[in-house]
Amino acid sequence: QAKQAGGNQIRFFNPEMQEIINVRITLENELRLAIEKSQFHLYYQIQMDSANRVLGAEALIRWMHPERGLVLPATFIPLAEETGLILPIGKWVIETACAQIKVWQKEPLTRNLTLSVNVSAKQFRQKNFVEKVQSAVERYAVPGNLLKLELTESLLQYDIEVTIAMMKALNKIGVQFSLDDFGTGYSSLQYLKRLPLDQFKIDQSFVRDIATDNNDKAIVKAIVAMAQILDIDVIAEGVETEEQRQLLLGKGCVFFQGYLFSKPIPIDEFEALICRLTDT
Ligand code: C2E
Ligand code: MG
Ligand code: MG
Ligand code: MG
Repeated sequence: QAKQAGGNQIRFFNPEMQEIINVRITLENELRLAIEKSQFHLYYQIQMDSANRVLGAEALIRWMHPERGLVLPATFIPLAEETGLILPIGKWVIETACAQIKVWQKEPLTRNLTLSVNVSAKQFRQKNFVEKVQSAVERYAVPGNLLKLELTESLLQYDIEVTIAMMKALNKIGVQFSLDDFGTGYSSLQYLKRLPLDQFKIDQSFVRDIATDNNDKAIVKAIVAMAQILDIDVIAEGVETEEQRQLLLGKGCVFFQGYLFSKPIPIDEFEALICRLTDT
């Protein structure tokens, strides 16, 4: 019944199921088109230290859809990962990030800014990922230490030895690593101490209620203590209020990112923000 005569195409006659499939197929086709037609943009969210000095930014992808307007990554990154489209998209992100670092090299105000880029586990474990990043860093002739790759704990489901070797290879050209959404995954301390990480990024779920939730306070304190033992930095994401910033600071977290400072914004707005903040 589900298989129509004369063809090998499977049809689902449950209309709700068919609808879900149609939406997926449409989105997947549109994603392919978006890559071809360069509909992706990077937005930049500023990162600060405890003295309100600018450290750099995180690059966050946006899809400027011709009809739907700005589409957030939560809508398309999961499907991009499932379909493998994350590989060309991720490559574009790294290339664009390196091009941006190159531009920043020309101005004293932006010369030392680091740029963090999100890398999905699937993208990291593709064939030749290390070579692709090395190639971008070399072609744009940018200091590798200004590029920071944000990995998630989901990477640890793969062969840890291979992951370590890849990270070390990229470390050789200066590339840094941050562990994004830290605390939400299943990292064992055994693994964490072996990964050549430069930074833990405290997930925003621990920051949100830090003013009222004693568990969140304790978790942040534990993350900072662990980072100190491992000799790596800690940055908090999702910092929205001065109160949260103060509480984080009190627990020893000295790097911040969140709406308190700025939302992710287009490059021209970001550069204007840098000028304003650094203007004296
Ligand atoms: P993430 O890397 O953890 O990024 C932080 C998310 O929190 C961003 O959402 C950011 O806009 C949002 N955010 C920042 N500050 C605040 C705040 O103060 N309050 C609140 N409520 N939210 C804040 P966004 O841009 O929608 O990105 C969502 C996720 O999509 C990212 O989470 C990341 O996992 C993924 N993503 C974004 N860009 C890329 C990319 O280029 N490649 C890959 N593979 N994934 C990406
Ligand atoms: Mg991130
Ligand atoms: Mg995060
Ligand atoms: Mg997050």
